[in-house]
Formats: sequence, C-alpha cells, structure tokens
Amino acid sequence: MFQLTSEQKLIQDAIRRMVERDIDPTLKARSADKPLPKEEMLRIMQLCAQQGLTSARVAESAGGAELPTVTYGLMMEQLPPVVAIAVLGQEVTATRISLDSTPEQRERFLPDLISGKRISCTGTTEPDVGSDSRGVKTRLQDDGPESFTLTGRKMWITNASICDLINVTAVYGTDAHGRPGTTRIVVDRAQSPFETREIPVLGLRQGHLGEVLFDGCSVPKQNQLGSVGDAARVLNKTWLANRPILGLCAVHMGQRALDAALVYAGDRKQFGQPIASFQLVQEMLADIATAVTTSRLLCYHALSAIDSGEQQAVHLSAMAKRYSLAACMRAVSLAMEVHGAMGISCEMGLEQLFRDVRMLPIPDGTNQILTLIEGRELTGVQAYRAVAAS
Ligand SMILES: Cc1cc2nc3c(=O)[nH]c(=O)nc-3n(C[C@H](O)[C@H](O)[C@H](O)COP(=O)(O)OP(=O)(O)OC[C@H]3O[C@@H](n4cnc5c(N)ncnc54)[C@H](O)[C@@H]3O)c2cc1C
Repeated sequence: MFQLTSEQKLIQDAIRRMVERDIDPTLKARSADKPLPKEEMLRIMQLCAQQGLTSARVAESAGGAELPTVTYGLMMEQLPPVVAIAVLGQEVTATRISLDSTPEQRERFLPDLISGKRISCTGTTEPDVGSDSRGVKTRLQDDGPESFTLTGRKMWITNASICDLINVTAVYGTDAHGRPGTTRIVVDRAQSPFETREIPVLGLRQGHLGEVLFDGCSVPKQNQLGSVGDAARVLNKTWLANRPILGLCAVHMGQRALDAALVYAGDRKQFGQPIASFQLVQEMLADIATAVTTSRLLCYHALSAIDSGEQQAVHLSAMAKRYSLAACMRAVSLAMEVHGAMGISCEMGLEQLFRDVRMLPIPDGTNQILTLIEGRELTGVQAYRAVAAS
C-alpha cells in the first residue's frame, strides 16, 4: 500500500506552515489580479530557498539541495500555485545552468539563484516557436573574441519581467550533424541590458509571464553553457520532473476545490435538507475526490520512477501531467457546480482556481505533445515531427 513516510509528512508540514505564516498573508494583502512587486517575490524566493526549493535538482557539489524528486514534488504541492510556478522557473533555470557548465560558470551564476537573491528564468519559446523548441530563431553571432550579439524575441517566459538573469536558448553555428545548432547562454541583465514586458493573461495573475526582447544585446562569450547542440537534451532532461510537478500544482488546486465543495455541500440547504444528502451532489463530490486522488498518486508514481531511473519515467511523466491537468480542471469545474451561482462569484475564490488551473496544460508540453510522447513510448514511433524521407 502506498503511504508517505513520517519524514515526508514532516517535510510537507514544514512547507504548509511556511505558506500559512509567511506567504499566504502576502498574497492576500495584494491584488489578486496584479503581478507581485519584485521585492515581494524576492522575499518569497528566499523563504523557499531556505527549504531547498530553489535548488532541488542542483547537485550538492554545485551548492544545491539535491533532493529526491518525490520530496521536491511533495513540497511543491503545498505551495500556492502562483508561487510554485515562479519557484519552478527559478529552480529549473539553476538546474539547467548546473548541467554541463564549467565550475567557474556554476560558481559565478548559481549561489545568488540558489539563495534567492536574484531572480532567473529560462527563455526558449518565441512568437513563432512553441512546441517545436528546436526551431528557435533567436540568434547568437560572434562579435570579436570576447563577446556575442544576441538578437531575437522570447514569449511566455515565467519570471521574465522581474528577472536578473535569463538562460536563453539560441541558434549558433552548426551541431555535430552540420545543422544549425541550438545553444544555451546566460544573459545577466546588469551586464547585458534587455527589454521585458508583462503579458496580461487569464490566470496566475500575481505571477509574472512576459516577453523579452534582445536587440543586438552584447553578451560575454564566457556565458555560453555546454556545447552547441545540447540545448534540447538539457530541456528534455528537466521537463521530465517539471511535468509531474505541474501536475501536483493542479492537484493543489483540485484539493482546495474539494475542501470548499465538501464544506458548502454540508452547509447549503435546499428542499429542506443539506445538498450533500442528494445523490447527484454526492456523485459530484465523489468525482472530484477521485480526480484529485488519482492525479496525486500518478504524479508521485512518475516522480518515483524518475528517482529510480526507470525507463518508463518518460511515459509516466507525460501521462501524469496530461491526466492531472484534465482531471483537476474538471474537479475545479465540478466544485463550482456544487456551489451553484456561488461557484462563479469572485468571493468564493473558485473562479480564480478555474482560471489558474487553465494556465497549466500549456507549459512544458501541451496536451497534444504529451499525448504524442505517450504514443511514442508505447509504440516506438514518434508522430509529432515529420520523418524525413530516406
Ligand atoms: C504558464 C506558462 C508558463 C510558461 N513558461 C515558459 C517559460 O518559462 N519559458 C519558456 O520558454 N516558455 C514558457 N511557456 C511557453 C510554453 O512552453 C509554450 O506556450 C508551449 O510550449 C506551447 O507553445 P505555443 O504556445 O507556441 O503553442 P504551439 O506550439 O503553437 O501549439 C498550438 C497548438 O498546436 C498543437 N500542436 C503543436 N505541435 C503539434 C504536433 N506536432 N502535433 C499535434 N499538435 C500539435 C499544440 O498542442 C497546441 O494545441 C509558458 C507558457 C505558459 C502558459
């Protein structure tokens, strides 16, 4: 039977206490529809850093927390989703910088990201490039022996408008097969200024989702990470755990919807009796609880497969995100239905969950891309990229 260990429960409790004491009051004191000021996000990032959340997948040898991904997922599930997304953007950037970089680069970039003193993000997506991340057009060009110029536009980047440092996927030279190579470069805003703009969106509005413009931005060559052609591999490696973690953000929202629906169904009376006594209301409650429980278990299962290096981890990770997002979006919608008209009121907070959860099927693999990854893992045939005729 599946059970959390007492240590895992203690870790979850510690995060829950931190959220209740130090994070929820900040979120409640601010407009639900406006991005948090940078200083508030920095304060939250530093609190999360103390728990290892900003460096969960960074090796201890590089100053990281190097947590089992199951532990990381259990902790992230407890965070308000808008905070979880910002922390995930920071942590995954630190992890990507830590992979195949030089000790000097790790020493230069990682300490301030791990401690939460500076905010970071990863910019891959562009106006014309989404699911097919290998098609990026943002270009690095040589500009003498010491520097590159970087030109291009990135879209839908978590933490962009408040970032101090961005890990950019760009085209440079050719890879080992003679094709345009995708490479990774860290752009430090203090050293290489660039423009950003917040993009108004449906949900997670206290967070930051933005656009970045590099207009011939000068970047030191010593900021280029790894080798030309390794960008897709590093992205894929980190998407693996990101996906079930995003699934657990949806579980957080589904659980909140379930808690609210249970209370309301017990309190609200119609036809002289609590609505919880009607069989059709019980069916909605049972469906919500089933969605939350199955999603949670599937995400834990995927994370555990990643920790133990199982081959089916790729399949389970895609399955966990796709399933959890669909199941928890329906769970939130059903909880609104249990509330009747109250469900759509701003007062109940369910409409905000409904908008927030709708943001998450998109990043780190849309539903269609995840379906095709599952299909590839099942059949051995990939169907999302045309296969060149031989
Ligand atoms: C909350 C949020 C946070 C994000 N954070 C970041 C970030 O930090 N950094 C970053 O770089 N990006 C980020 N993104 C961007 C995200 O990664 C992209 O939006 C995503 O990859 C999809 O790209 P797209 O929006 O261009 O859609 P497209 O790729 O244009 O897809 C449009 C539609 O076509 C479908 N489609 C595409 N290709 C295929 C195919 N082969 N077969 C079947 N269907 C297909 C898609 O599933 C979708 O339904 C974020 C997005 C969101 C919403």
